[in-house]
Amino acid sequence: MSLTERLRRLIAASGPIPVGEYMALANAHYYATRDPLGAGGDFTTAPEISQMFGELTGLCLADAWDRAGRPEGISYVELGPGRGTLAADALRAMRAAELSPPVELVETSPTLRAQQAERLPAVRWHDDVATLPEAGPLLVVANEFFDALPARQLVRAGEGWHERVVDVEGDRFVPEAGRPMPGSALPAHVREAPEGSILEVSPAAAAIVRQLAQRLVRQGGVALIVDYGHARTAAGDTLQAVRGHLYADPWMEPGENDLTVHVDFEALGAAAEAEGVRVLGPVTQGAWLTALGIDARAAALAAAAPARAEEIEAAHARLTAPEQMGTLFKVMALAAPAWPDPAGLA
Ligand code: SAH
Repeated sequence: MSLTERLRRLIAASGPIPVGEYMALANAHYYATRDPLGAGGDFTTAPEISQMFGELTGLCLADAWDRAGRPEGISYVELGPGRGTLAADALRAMRAAELSPPVELVETSPTLRAQQAERLPAVRWHDDVATLPEAGPLLVVANEFFDALPARQLVRAGEGWHERVVDVEGDRFVPEAGRPMPGSALPAHVREAPEGSILEVSPAAAAIVRQLAQRLVRQGGVALIVDYGHARTAAGDTLQAVRGHLYADPWMEPGENDLTVHVDFEALGAAAEAEGVRVLGPVTQGAWLTALGIDARAAALAAAAPARAEEIEAAHARLTAPEQMGTLFKVMALAAPAWPDPAGLA
């Protein structure tokens, strides 16, 4: 039975479901059943555009480890590693900096685990962050991971907020303002948003950030969170569906499109800070990569392969230019109390 049919029966039997549940079921099906990345897939990510992204990420982590006094027992941890491209590039760059940590991947998709196994020889997989190694500092990377986690949508209605739910009409799913819910936990500057405003909250994302922060406090290390989103909590419906590199209707064919929301960095930062880590940034991806030396890396790659110079320059621009990924994408770091600030986030 298709996911559409399963959701239709579920809603017919027990009523409309919250948007967050719809997103969770759709994305679990979507990622479990395909490799969505690259030119022939649905979307492309920074590490798939150029090796420079993973290399600079690896160097940033190795530099933080070096300035922390080169502690033993380090693990490289990646959340939602896709095809394993970022990890492969980061680990190569870290090896050059004398760091070769064991690799721990948090990944639920069997299809993508198979891809990762091809690119990364010896890794351990985890269904969630709870089973990561309990000892030794963690160097954590998450690129375009948090945007795929389910978000609840709250709708401003009258004096309070309702949780947006999904009903079914024919072969189409339709969102509607559902049950009233308390809004007291919302940040002050969004609590009084005008009638009809939509606010997205992701308890799933906040829970993972809290667990990571607790681990960093106990074990040491840093985490780099890269995603598209806003630096401050803001009202707005950012749920979007992408398929074949084009926007699609998020309410049609759940599980066949990539569903994402903008990441609320203010909310994630607050969740992390409450656990005792330092939060750096967010800064724009363009500023971060530039501070880490992407201009010099692009020039070196082009000098080594003149025939590819144009392609390398195009990738450089795509990763850093404000009208491309440079500004919408942001980087936030979490640092354990005794660890230095990762480079590029000032
Ligand atoms: N970081 C990669 C892939 C981004 S796509 C890149 O930049 O290319 C999102 C990734 O997160 C995929 O690997 C997907 O399978 C994984 N993912 C999505 N939801 C997840 C969840 N709840 N738990 C673990 N992994 C998840």
